[in-house]
Amino acid sequence: MILMHLLGNREISLKEMFYFLYEQETGREISLKNTSNASVSDVVVLTDLVIDFIFENDIPFKDGYEILPGHLDYYFYKCVMNRVCCICGKQNADIDHFSEPVGMGNNRNKVDGEKYDYAALCREHHTIKHSMPLGEFKDRYKVKGVRLTQEEIEKIRKVSYEGI
Ligand SMILES: [Zn+2]
Repeated sequence: MILMHLLGNREISLKEMFYFLYEQETGREISLKNTSNASVSDVVVLTDLVIDFIFENDIPFKDGYEILPGHLDYYFYKCVMNRVCCICGKQNADIDHFSEPVGMGNNRNKVDGEKYDYAALCREHHTIKHSMPLGEFKDRYKVKGVRLTQEEIEKIRKVSYEGI
């Protein structure tokens, strides 16, 4: 792993590692102490790095949206791109057309995918979603759909069994 190469064999805490990644990314130091002058966007960059790390290393998580408040869009986006259930963290999740289902008789290949929003849901949560009105599901699980570019949709299609 590149990071280990950079750091040598020195043992570091996860916190130090994220601060290190942050400095690599931005060329600046960050501190989240009360006296720090980190701006909101600094913290967003740091949170992005933490989320990237979680997905790149398949770190299991539960209720991820609760531990990452204020940064939901990126979290839901990563869940979709990695096909990880955004509610329970289970892998190989279905990619659901979240707010608006593809209508009956629509040929999925001809549907403009950029018009839809998506959410990654495991089979169990996917089933639960379809068992109740969308508004109720959103209220209960706080899931938000994300929009994708055509390129991102193609990327997921390559690894998706069911197609989206
Ligand atoms: Zn799930």
